[in-house]
Amino acid sequence: MFDDVNDLYQQVILDHCKKPRNFHELPAATCSAQGHNPLCGDNLKLFLTLDGDVIKDASFVGSGCCISKASASLLTDNIKGKTRAEAEKTFTQVHDMVMTGTVNGDVGKLAVFAGVHKYPARVKCAILAWHALVGALKGDAQPVTTESEQN
Ligand code: ZN
Repeated sequence: MFDDVNDLYQQVILDHCKKPRNFHELPAATCSAQGHNPLCGDNLKLFLTLDGDVIKDASFVGSGCCISKASASLLTDNIKGKTRAEAEKTFTQVHDMVMTGTVNGDVGKLAVFAGVHKYPARVKCAILAWHALVGALKGDAQPVTTESEQN
């Protein structure tokens, strides 16, 4: 899939693609949002359980390419325990990273997606779950589509 990205990063993506974490519905979810990337056919639904301002639990279901699934899997792991503001900050970091390849601040394992910026068609796969996250936090009723984004 990637020819010049770090092997370790590729392995992390493949691992999360084959064995996605938190891949189930969340009956106790307080909010959820659907994401759709028509260019690739990725469809996912993200569930969040918020306790006040803190994301207590997160999960997703759906189907899509390896990048979109791995991204959603790593996202759900990453945002558990974060506040709304922290999760939104992480969205901005991930967004900038997949657009430019530059990592600003500590994004942990999410850094595996830095190489995606070289593959413009894949950027939307990597960012889809993050748009769904922002949609869920805002309580948007409308499905999120990557095609509404200006980039
Ligand atoms: Zn995709």
